[in-house]
This record gives sequence, C-alpha cells and structure tokens, in this order.
Amino acid sequence: MQHRYQIIQADWTVTVNADFEVLHDFSVVVEDNRIQTLIANDQVMELPCYTQAEIISLPGCALMPGLVNSHTHASMSLFRGLADDLPLMQWLTDHIWPAEARWVDAEFTADGFRLAAAEMIRSGTTCLSDMFYCPDEAARCAQQIGMRSVIGLIVLDFPSVWAQNADEYLHKALAVHDEIRELPLVSSAFAPHAPYTVSDEPLRQIAMYSSELDVPVHMHVHETAAEVAEAQQKTGQRPLERLDQLNLLNPNLIAVHMTELDEFEIERVAEAGVNIAHCPESNLKLASGICPVSTLLDRGVNVCLGTDGAASNNDLDLLGEMRTAAMLAKGSSGNASACNARQAIEMATINGARALGMADQIGSIEPGKLADLIALDLTSLNTQPLYDPVAQIAYAASSRQVSHVWIDGVPQLRDFEFCQLDSDEIIATAAGWANKIKS
Ligand SMILES: [Zn+2]
Repeated sequence: MQHRYQIIQADWTVTVNADFEVLHDFSVVVEDNRIQTLIANDQVMELPCYTQAEIISLPGCALMPGLVNSHTHASMSLFRGLADDLPLMQWLTDHIWPAEARWVDAEFTADGFRLAAAEMIRSGTTCLSDMFYCPDEAARCAQQIGMRSVIGLIVLDFPSVWAQNADEYLHKALAVHDEIRELPLVSSAFAPHAPYTVSDEPLRQIAMYSSELDVPVHMHVHETAAEVAEAQQKTGQRPLERLDQLNLLNPNLIAVHMTELDEFEIERVAEAGVNIAHCPESNLKLASGICPVSTLLDRGVNVCLGTDGAASNNDLDLLGEMRTAAMLAKGSSGNASACNARQAIEMATINGARALGMADQIGSIEPGKLADLIALDLTSLNTQPLYDPVAQIAYAASSRQVSHVWIDGVPQLRDFEFCQLDSDEIIATAAGWANKIKS
C-alpha cells in the first residue's frame, strides 16, 4: 500500500509530552494517520520518505496537539442564545428541556452536531466528548465529518425522543455501543445525565457495564450547591457519596462540573482516580459555582476542560475556555501561580485524552500517536513580541489564529479555510432551524 507522508515544519512544536518539551525548528513527520517521528529541520532531508512527502511549512506558527473538549452537548448549538441570564434549574426546566421535547429528532441532532463540529474544528478542537439524544445519529455524523468523538450514550429516568424509561435508554446504549464500534473515529461512553435525573438501579448497571467493557462514564456531578443540598434533604446523602456506594468512583468516571466539593470528597476523588471535566464558562454564566481546580491539581487529580453546550457558554472555543480556567483558578485561589500556562495547556489536551482513556493515542505530539494536530499563527499583533510560545498560547492567542487542523492525519483546516466542511451550508441550515424554533 502506498503511504501518505506529510512533513509539518512550524517554528515551534509544543509537544505536551511528559517533559513538556517545546522544540524549535523541528519537523513533525506524519505517515498516513500517525506521527512517525520528530526530527530537526536540518536532518529531515535524510529521511527516506522526504522525497515523496508533502512539506507544509508554517513560519511564525506553533504546532501543538489538537484540543480535547471533554464535555459538550454538540447538537445544542442550535439552541445557542435561546435562553440566557438564568440559573441552571430555571434554564433547564423552563426553557431547554421543553425546547428539546419539542424540537429534537435525528435531523436536529445531525444538523446541530455539524454546526458544533465546524465551530470546534475552526477553533482548534480535534476531539469532543458528547452527551445528547440520538447518539447513533451523532456518531454517524462525527464519522462522516471526520471529527474524533466520544459519543455519550445518554441515560435518564424520564422519557424523551430517544427512549421512554431507564431500561430502554440502557438497552439502546448497549446497542449503539455495539453499532459504532466499527467507526474508526468514534468511540462511546455511558452518559447518565446527572445524579438527580438517574436512579440507583440504572446507575448500578452502568457501573457494571463500564467496568466489564472498560468504557468511560460521563456524568454531570455536583454542578451546583443547590443540587447537593436538595439531594441531602431528600436522601440524607450527598450525590458523590451515593455514586461511591454505586461503585462509580473510579478512573472510568468523568465527573463534569464538581463545583461543590468538601475536603473529604476531594481526598476521595483523588484516591479513586476520578477525572474531572471543568467547564468554567458555563459554570460562570449559569452562576453554578466554581470548581476548586487549583486544589484538585495539587492533589494530582486529572482535571480536563469542556465547553459544555453552546446554549450555556455560549461558544465552543476551547482555547478561550483554557484561558478562563487559568484566570479563574488564580482569582479564586488567591494564587497567581495556580493553573500555570503549562497546566492550562495540559488540561485542554493530554488531560482530556487521559479522561477519555485515549492518552496512548492522542493529546500530545509523540511518535506513534494519531496525527491530531493544530497550528496557531503567532505573528498577529496580540502575540508579538514572542518570548515564549507557551505563554502566548495560554494567555494571548485567540482561536482566530488557528491556521491549520489535522484530525487522524486528514487536513480539516488549511490556511484558515475548511478543507472538508462547507460553512455556508452549515450556517444556512442553522438559520433554517432558528426560523422554525422562534416562530
Ligand atoms: Zn453539560
């Protein structure tokens, strides 16, 4: 078989490897969909593949691993701006859940997913972890677009367009898990929505299946103080304690939000190896609370980043989320060293990969890993002069500076233009939905 070689030469390669090496004047050699090697520019001509390779020269750019959005509801991008300036439960019960009941179907899921994926690719995200209805449709859409995705297999107690009760959700979750195993860019996670929307029995079964199949569990947990207080009032237990009794606190769990944690719970999640998906902009916008990221990082907890859905953010820009996370960690801990530039970049890349069980495949630029790569053009006014590309990426660069994106070795963005997606068509489709929904 004929191999395809791409040699990407950026001024800086921010590897995000274990030593967080930043290489200057290096070539990243991609063979088909994998990174073959990293080699100094003055030696790359000696490689046997050099003569047949496509050379992509990126002066003034930094190459880094593609960003990993560890928590989103991609298709909800069609509800962006539908209801704002409200607290979580009012936003959910008065606006989002009724809108979902009225509008969501397979077509909505696919069109919303496409809009979200395009926005994410444009802003440097190469892998997303989703939670929404019609996960089979989202999976097919992800594969067709070429977006690496971990599709959440939604489970709830109450009926929706997708299923009528917890048993049916679980049954369909397992069926979709089997169905999408064949799709190379897509994998799955169980996605019980939250402790307050899923009862003990389905959670017990999810814990069992997750352990048997080694599949992550993606769940909103301790999103607000009110959620925790209400659970305590109803059951005498904090939700995290209940999840612990149901055998869900382990390295397969991606607990989203976690704004409300006491000292004992921080120790417990650290000990259990629970991953935490921090969504600072959604938490700030809904006034949900603040995840104690600085303390969690100090205790060695794997904290990754998510945008949440565009209906509560309201964008899907993970580079912006990274900066908000760093600023919020510093401001809330009173420590300017908290969540430093390196940690912020790790949260948006390798930590997300680790949470999704994919750290051996994506999240850093290392030989053997899949070629999920992005380039940022740092020649703009706002990233000059350039002492340190890491500081510029974490604290100054905007997602508009993402110039190139590869997913699985396939170019998705080249010189700021989509290679595969038709953004005019995607925007027109979104506008069509807005006309229907607002009428
Ligand atoms: Zn969410």
